[in-house]
Amino acid sequence: MKTKVQVTTKEKRISSILEESGRIIIAGPCSAESQDQVIETAKALAADGRVHYLRAGIWKPRTSPGSFEGVGTIGFQWLNQARAITGLPIATEVGSERHVYEALKHGVDMLWIGARTVSNPFTIQEIADAIRGVDIPIMVKNPLSPDINLWEGAINRFARSGVSQIGAVHRGFTHSGKSALRNHPNWSIPMMLRERLPDIPIICDPSHIAGNKDLVSSIAQRAMESGFNGLMVEVHPNPHLALSDSAQQLIPNQFVSMLDRLFDISNLQNSEELLSELRLEVDILDEQLVSALASRMKLVKHIASIKKDKNLEVLQPNRWDSIIKRVSLLADEQGLRPSFVRRLFNSIHKESCTFQQEQLMRSAVK
Ligand code: PEP
Ligand code: MN
Repeated sequence: MKTKVQVTTKEKRISSILEESGRIIIAGPCSAESQDQVIETAKALAADGRVHYLRAGIWKPRTSPGSFEGVGTIGFQWLNQARAITGLPIATEVGSERHVYEALKHGVDMLWIGARTVSNPFTIQEIADAIRGVDIPIMVKNPLSPDINLWEGAINRFARSGVSQIGAVHRGFTHSGKSALRNHPNWSIPMMLRERLPDIPIICDPSHIAGNKDLVSSIAQRAMESGFNGLMVEVHPNPHLALSDSAQQLIPNQFVSMLDRLFDISNLQNSEELLSELRLEVDILDEQLVSALASRMKLVKHIASIKKDKNLEVLQPNRWDSIIKRVSLLADEQGLRPSFVRRLFNSIHKESCTFQQEQLMRSAVK
């Protein structure tokens, strides 16, 4: 059942949105690209009635130069028109003091801090100083790296500047593997942030975690099951023409059916979505396991060459005992059965010894 939210006014606080709706939903294109694109998206979102803020990037912090870097301040006119037509409050990303002043000058209702900016405490402090004394909600995305202190530190800088409406946005963390997901969700980090800052609402940005429109819904599902306080989702009327993040944006209809599925508890598809999301995460971890094993074997190879030069035995029982003790302890601390981890490490060790013997024999033959 769809419950229409009253379109929020500029004065509405995020805490009252959460109280009334039980969640906060922010949606809109990755970037504002044209007047038509912004207004068409806003109309579709407002018609659904469950969206609280229209998002659109005006300045885009891009990893590589030459990518689309945003339309700049002209985009505020389109956002303001969209708000005037639909009543939806507007949100944009700020990455500098100048962005804050421009956004405030143009009456933006909510600001967010992007993942690249959160990693820089100088910039965060500059933005926090620029915003001092202004009562505007600010959503702080997690940094690119899984560094909870950096994320918490940025939030605390805003709190110290007297910002009273702060939210956190989980958008995943950079990973180097070839997983189907653009960013690693690493759910334990937002959960840890919740423990550290229980009063800060945390929403999920499934679009940047997924990186692909087909995976957005299962990430969103997982977030809602884990008690997140809402979502920030990229929605674009023609994703294939989008100037940034084209692969991950949903068309308004897809977004609306995703919300229907997410918030309809009787929907059986939910567990399938959850299952596929969990499998994607398992794939990332498996990839990390294999790549950790490969890196370990490279170090073993290096060690083998030193042992050969120094005429040392391949098997060093003391060293092996201490490794087994250490990993058993770590396993226990992390809720794994130590006997399982010992079996696993014995097998790794066997492979390392065989590998080292082969290395020694090969160099003896040479
Ligand atoms: C965005 O929201 O479009 C964006 C650039 O996100 P992030 O900072 O999470 O990469
Ligand atoms: Mn984006």
